[in-house]
Amino acid sequence: MNKLENTLMKWNFKKIAKWYVILALITGLTCIGIVGYIYRERLSFAWQYARLKEADNETDARTYAYKTANASSDVVDVLILDDTNKILYSAKNSSFSTGTLNLEKAGDEKKYLVSSQYPDAAFQYVKSDDFLLQSILNKDFGRIKHDYDEDAAFDNTLSNKTVYMLSRLHIHDTAMKIYVISIPTTVSGGILSLKISAALAMLFFCIYWVLIALWLYRDAAKHKLASLYWGLIGLCTNIIGLIVYLIYKHSLAICPACGAAQRTDHLYCTNCGKQLGTLCPHCGSQISSKDHFCPHCGKKVY
Ligand SMILES: [Zn+2]
Ligand SMILES: [Zn+2]
Repeated sequence: MNKLENTLMKWNFKKIAKWYVILALITGLTCIGIVGYIYRERLSFAWQYARLKEADNETDARTYAYKTANASSDVVDVLILDDTNKILYSAKNSSFSTGTLNLEKAGDEKKYLVSSQYPDAAFQYVKSDDFLLQSILNKDFGRIKHDYDEDAAFDNTLSNKTVYMLSRLHIHDTAMKIYVISIPTTVSGGILSLKISAALAMLFFCIYWVLIALWLYRDAAKHKLASLYWGLIGLCTNIIGLIVYLIYKHSLAICPACGAAQRTDHLYCTNCGKQLGTLCPHCGSQISSKDHFCPHCGKKVY
């Protein structure tokens, strides 16, 4: 026996598995809790925004427009407009909330929307699913802002405007539309908490992977099988190797004296010499303890 085998023989894998599950659960729940707490505003926004998207009458739309607007401080306003762009409702009474809001494409680039009523503002129209993602992570709004700043440097019509992100929703079966206007900011500690969670998940996954391989190595050694071979199979194929091993082991007999795995037709253990199985009291051939009748002479055995 080598050193690794000696050490592994002393390990209590049941206890290790129990502690692994407990620690993984605690770590997982803690991470979800921390990330959820850090992103609580954005998640509540996402939840309300999803319901706003489903609104099919003006009353519901007003309710969820108000909730969406107040879920996150990034939201500048949520407006409900009729087919002539007249503002019917404003959730935050922002500077965009009075009269009408007519948007038109800005310059030749046509990437931004502007309104003659608000010379200080430019809007980037973002599809509703992207809008949700960007509102949560602020990943792409950073890019929008960057692109805008670059474009504004070359386009006089865009310079000195504040860039907003705008999503347009329709109230189902009506001519009314909803504008959600926001300036997404970075969630402080958000990306860091996600990275740490991902690293911890990776760490636990690696530990699980190695534990399977070590258990295979130890169990194979215990039953006098090719431990290094099975350990390597565990390391390369993990759960598949484990299943193959268990099926293989099931096809063998385990010597009750020394634990060595033996072929089922062995009369004696090749490791310790102990007699394996039972002999038929009528003809003396080897029979399995599960047999009711001798496979050789057909007589009843017990
Ligand atoms: Zn034996
Ligand atoms: Zn017999």
